[in-house]
This record gives sequence, C-alpha cells and structure tokens, in this order.
Amino acid sequence: MNEKDNLLLGQLIKYKDNDMQMDLEDGYLTEADHHHLDGLIINLVRYYHDIRYCSDKTCGCSPEKGIELHYKEIKRWMRKTNYALYPIPWKRIEEIIESNSSEGKR
Ligand SMILES: [Zn+2]
Repeated sequence: MNEKDNLLLGQLIKYKDNDMQMDLEDGYLTEADHHHLDGLIINLVRYYHDIRYCSDKTCGCSPEKGIELHYKEIKRWMRKTNYALYPIPWKRIEEIIESNSSEGKR
C-alpha cells in the first residue's frame, strides 16, 4: 500500500470518527451516509489486500464494484470535504473506479 492510499484510508476513517459525527448531529448527513462510508472503507481494505471471492473484477462481489456502489451514493458530499477537519482525497477513489472500468472494456 503506497503513501497516497494510506492517506486516503486514514482520512476516510478520521472523517468518519470526527467530521461525520458532527454532520450527523447537525442533520447534514444521515445513517444511510454512515452505512455507505463504512461500506466504502471495508471495500477499499478488501481492494488493497486483494480479499476476493472470485477473480472477476467486474463481478458484483468484487471490491472494485463495492467501491463503485458505495461511492456513487455519497460522492455528492464527499467531493465537498475540502474544508473538513479531515478532507477526503476523493480523486484517488475515482482513479480506482476509472482504472477498473477501463480494464473491463479491454
Ligand atoms: Zn464474484
């Protein structure tokens, strides 16, 4: 795992434990957002450590698909975390999704 990926995972977890708690109290985010952030973190860990049920990266059980599914639901606010206590480097998530979708087309 490189420095960029370690930063992404760290910021996501710190955002969840800090910024998100305030956002939930303020009603800016909901339990559904919480669920999708948890799902995104788990699927990123699966992706980095290659924890898979089958080898197909386009299969619904793949971490790549899990990342895509959860990110889709929360990207609208995740892209606006620049001024959060723990800003999320979301471009890295989109790089992972894009590299996987272009690989699927090959
Ligand atoms: Zn599968």
